[in-house]
Amino acid sequence: MKRRPFAIALVASGVFFLTTLAADAAPCMIVTLTGTMGGPPEFNGLAGPGTLVRYGDDANNCSALKLQFDAGRGTVMRLSQLNVPPAQVNAVFFTHMHSDHVDGFADLMQLRWHFNSKGPKVDVVCSADVATALGFTISCQKFIAHLADSYVQSGEIAQRLSEVKDRLPGGPAELVHLLTFPAKNEPQVVWTSGDVKVSAVRSTHIAGHASYRVDTPAGSVVIGGDAGNDTFAPPRSSSTSEEVETLAKGADIIVHSAIHPVMGPDKNSGMPPPIFFQQSTASDLGAMAKRAGAKHLMLTHLIPPLGAVRQGPWTIPGGALKEANYKQAARDGGFTGDIVVGTDLASLRLPAK
Ligand SMILES: [Zn+2]
Repeated sequence: MKRRPFAIALVASGVFFLTTLAADAAPCMIVTLTGTMGGPPEFNGLAGPGTLVRYGDDANNCSALKLQFDAGRGTVMRLSQLNVPPAQVNAVFFTHMHSDHVDGFADLMQLRWHFNSKGPKVDVVCSADVATALGFTISCQKFIAHLADSYVQSGEIAQRLSEVKDRLPGGPAELVHLLTFPAKNEPQVVWTSGDVKVSAVRSTHIAGHASYRVDTPAGSVVIGGDAGNDTFAPPRSSSTSEEVETLAKGADIIVHSAIHPVMGPDKNSGMPPPIFFQQSTASDLGAMAKRAGAKHLMLTHLIPPLGAVRQGPWTIPGGALKEANYKQAARDGGFTGDIVVGTDLASLRLPAK
């Protein structure tokens, strides 16, 4: 007599379990700004630029895959606040070889070498070497090869190897699996894992600059980096990159470095025009996001940072900027979607919860 209700209860709970599993398996992604400082100066504890893209499903909190785009000062500290240890990062992508975008990478790799030398290597994806007309070469490959030279030269690597033998003898650089790609104006796929695809385009800021797009079943995000227009100064149609705009067509989220128009040469900030002109303005980014059909625009690498009265040596005409000033600038460009004015650890989830 008692077995039948029990069986019904079992079937009922089985149905419930399967329903829960199906709901848990829904794909999702989280885009988090791991640092929002604009350029090399330091201000108010902001970490250097970086974006973490996590992808997975509801059951693993969208975290089966963890991709880091740029790794500025303090990246490991921000990742620690997200409970993402260095060992869990699957791949690192660099937009360009400027210190503010790479300062935190040696820290991340030293820790990974220290505690997870036996684990998988980290894919590092960046542009192939570019020789410039000025006689120097921008080389991500050399940056990686010499990543921990100072730790090797100081004797630290040998000292730590003498303590724990199962660390890689070459030091942190030996834990990198480097993947470089030739600069191209058309999007090219540079990295894949399962149904996640990362594409890149060449963009202008300095030689070897690249912008990325991540496509997943849960949505897509473009990480523009410090991209600007190929035409380096006015007259030009926009301060934004046409290549990035092509890459961003139909993307859900655009994450992009932004300079506020108030820093322009016409406003007397003292910032040298070439520095102003090699970034995209918040207004032009708003216009680009509108044309691309993006739903969310995340402004990061803010020049100037919120609340700063100076940007490095330069003053902010009219005083410190607030979130509303950046939002207004992006709205002035015609964008009517969601605007996130970047602060460290600001996140967007797709789909929204
Ligand atoms: Zn930068």
